[in-house]
Amino acid sequence: GILDQTSLSSDEEQVDRNLRPNTLKQYIGQAELKERLQVYIQAAKQREEALDHTLLYGPPGLGKTTLALVIATELGVNIKTTTGPVIEKQGDLLAVLNELQPGDVLFIDEIHRLPKTVEEMLYSAMEDFYVDIIVGEGDNSRPVHFPLPPFTLIGATTRGGMLSQPLRDRFGIVEHMNYYNQQELSDIVLRSANVFEIEIEPSGALELARRSHGTPRIANRLLRRVRDFAMVKKYAAIDLQLVDFALNLLKIDRSGLDQVDLKILTTMIENYDGGPVGIKTLAANIGEEVDTIESMYEPYLLQIGFVKRTPRGRTVTIKAYDHLQIPYERKE
Ligand code: ADP
Repeated sequence: GILDQTSLSSDEEQVDRNLRPNTLKQYIGQAELKERLQVYIQAAKQREEALDHTLLYGPPGLGKTTLALVIATELGVNIKTTTGPVIEKQGDLLAVLNELQPGDVLFIDEIHRLPKTVEEMLYSAMEDFYVDIIVGEGDNSRPVHFPLPPFTLIGATTRGGMLSQPLRDRFGIVEHMNYYNQQELSDIVLRSANVFEIEIEPSGALELARRSHGTPRIANRLLRRVRDFAMVKKYAAIDLQLVDFALNLLKIDRSGLDQVDLKILTTMIENYDGGPVGIKTLAANIGEEVDTIESMYEPYLLQIGFVKRTPRGRTVTIKAYDHLQIPYERKE
């Protein structure tokens, strides 16, 4: 579905860069997190030290990468960005670390996907700013001590629980990113529309916001799609009616649920009587990865109160039955 396109086309990436806020002030939402970060950043600057290592976790598209860029800007330092799966060997990590200047930010997206050996090398890098590596082979191999400048590691992951304890323990700042509310998403949509130079009525922005899964990336993506409709249908401005028309065609329902969300709910209802059902069984039934469901779909369904977690598995709530207009039979 439109929700699970986590990677962007190069076109989208270019536009994406223009959409990104540069400062904490421009960064919409996450109010409490921003307030705390403001203090940590100011304190680090006053002490002329690197900011503590920071772990950001939460569903994809909530602005973790964007926030890392903002933090670097606010600190007035350079940022180097990479992702867990790209760093295959210790040498790859060393190459990245080697480029850091004192105080710089290293951003590692999907940090839970670092290979174990690389992760272990990060421990000393984070804690005491050095790495020990073995160079050469066999009889010629010897350890080399490699000092590093003080730097800030910002790690991002879709699920905090997937990080090993030793790695997690080395982050001084651990922050969970929350879904955005409708007003915040509407502000993001209006800001993006401004960047794209498209006219959108407040009612259209609010409707887009309501159906964006609480996620800025999806809000921006839907805005791009609705813009296409506006162009082809020769609308001068995007209004509520056009948003509704376009999103219905895209099969995003009135609560912002996409085909996968709906499949999850209907499978739970039709095959498991509304649950409880285990996540593995569910994933196998609908042909999605457990990880995709747990990081992307389930959190939102929990957030809007359509699914509940119980010790015996997930269950569908009455609220979801109502939304789907399926009669709910009370179970014992
Ligand atoms: P993540 O790293 O969590 O997957 P990104 O940082 O890549 O998410 O954000 C996805 C998109 O949403 C980007 O286009 C970004 O500009 C936009 N975005 C995210 N958070 C905000 C925000 N707080 N304010 C404005 N735009 C945002």
